[in-house]
Amino acid sequence: MASLKSPGLILKKTPFSDSSLILKVFTRESGLITLIAKGAKRPKSKYHGLLDFFTLDQFVYPAKSKSEIHTLMEVGLMRDFPRLKSDPARQSLAHVFLELYLKYVPEPEQSHPHFELLLERLGRIDEAREFDPVLELCDFLLALCAVSGFSPQFSECAQCGRTDLGFRARLDPDLGGPVCATCSGTGGGAGAGSFSARLLRWLTRLQACGPRAGRIPREEEAQAEAFLLAFLGKHAGGSRPMKSLDFYHQMLEPL
Ligand SMILES: [Zn+2]
Repeated sequence: MASLKSPGLILKKTPFSDSSLILKVFTRESGLITLIAKGAKRPKSKYHGLLDFFTLDQFVYPAKSKSEIHTLMEVGLMRDFPRLKSDPARQSLAHVFLELYLKYVPEPEQSHPHFELLLERLGRIDEAREFDPVLELCDFLLALCAVSGFSPQFSECAQCGRTDLGFRARLDPDLGGPVCATCSGTGGGAGAGSFSARLLRWLTRLQACGPRAGRIPREEEAQAEAFLLAFLGKHAGGSRPMKSLDFYHQMLEPL
């Protein structure tokens, strides 16, 4: 039987029968695919210790399958992300990255840029000495939007194009940008959904140069995160509930 070999990252594992696992894997060569690892839950399985989250594995699977679910033929370890496995703060953020791919990247569709982005960012939070999770997540969301072919902008009114947006402006997830006070008809009020000029400038910097944009107050970072999630949802086929965000937000709470 002709087979394919590809590096891949496990996004989700579901028990199947008493002994097997169904895996959602984002592969370099086939995009997001579903594999069944037969017998993987048995203690003496050949897959023992290989099907963890946060390892880069080489997967071998049939080139063609009658079903949507391919039978895993072989797997080999290529790279480990040890701190993602042992540090809860890093792990909670990494699980958000995995779930974003599971929920918002279409299946099946080969995309090397998507694969490289996920691999690079998992490596980055694994290796970083110190990192700010909200900054990393906002940066990841912007990068995921960019490789998916849609990006928001933060410097001009999405309706009339004016760049002097005043002290605050509303960000519109549908339009993917700020809407000035005149166009939104609010008279420039500081409503709940309005973003400060500082936050808009920070988002522009983040889009241009990544985490070197630096930190801003946590409430504003959280506001940016919520907007970017809403924007991604609007442009990638509708918002989906994200379980991993609950744990991630718990990890952000001060002890
Ligand atoms: Zn306007």
